[in-house]
Amino acid sequence: MSTIESARGPIDTADLGTTLMHEHVFVLTPDVQQNFPENWGDEDARVEDAVQRLEAVYDSGIRTIVDPTVIGLGRYIPRIQAIAERVRINIVVATGVYTYEDAPFFFHYRGPALNEALGMEIPDPMVDMFVTDITDGIAGTGVKAGMLKCAIDSPGLTSGVERVMRAVAKAHLATGTPITVHTHPGTQTGLLVKRVMCDEEGVDPSRIVLGHSGDTTDCDHLQELADAGFVLGMDRFGINLDTTFEARADTLIEMVRRGYSHQMVLSQDASCYIDWVDPNVMAFLPQWNYTHIVDEVVPYVLERGVSQEQIDTMLVDVPRRFFDGP
Ligand SMILES: [Zn+2]
Repeated sequence: MSTIESARGPIDTADLGTTLMHEHVFVLTPDVQQNFPENWGDEDARVEDAVQRLEAVYDSGIRTIVDPTVIGLGRYIPRIQAIAERVRINIVVATGVYTYEDAPFFFHYRGPALNEALGMEIPDPMVDMFVTDITDGIAGTGVKAGMLKCAIDSPGLTSGVERVMRAVAKAHLATGTPITVHTHPGTQTGLLVKRVMCDEEGVDPSRIVLGHSGDTTDCDHLQELADAGFVLGMDRFGINLDTTFEARADTLIEMVRRGYSHQMVLSQDASCYIDWVDPNVMAFLPQWNYTHIVDEVVPYVLERGVSQEQIDTMLVDVPRRFFDGP
């Protein structure tokens, strides 16, 4: 038996069930919220809203969500823990740092940033912070991280992005906890993940989800990444601003047709509340919600040649295998 940590404690990976590999409960900017709290409003009302939404996800057949909300996205585990106690769905939480450019200021004069001044190699405190979140739990809650997370977007491999990426790779090698990386397939940043994390740091690509792979329709590029051994995160269904429902779904169908259902996971990158988006804009994203895949994507692809078995592979078997490890 293999176990994975959730916000309610360890669960058998055989019990993960139908799993959405990239959904947030909340995405927040804590220092803005602390100083301008009227946007967030009443804490109890937000928690109650999250409980209702997550119960509805469970009713749709989903049994687990992986919430890759880390430093830079407003992670606050006491709130997630309280919500997890009131819902049936499993919530797997993550550790890591989310940035497209610099490491957070907290790290600017710590660890390797001091190498030159001190004339010696200083280990990165990020690595210990991530490992502690995985082995001892997060901020005294007892909740342990089940996933590592970093990001590389269109700015590419900045020094801050590279620093976080290497720290995540080292924490993975120390713990075996798998990794999800926010990538930007339009500029093929998955290839930089391969160079830094796999070729140089030694991470097995099968332990990495290349998140947001479904943001491109370039199936040849996706095939190249899958052939390198990565899991592809087709994990932004419903965010149809720069693309369309059909473009995302047809890309999934084509990758299944090419034989990659055993290397894809499905999700929506949705949340109960994200303070990055003007609430008025949400009206233009009606499909960006937790049940869009079950309600709309699955029926669409089933009608166009994808089998129920292949759906189950992507929603059940690949997540379980990913957390089981080698
Ligand atoms: Zn996300």
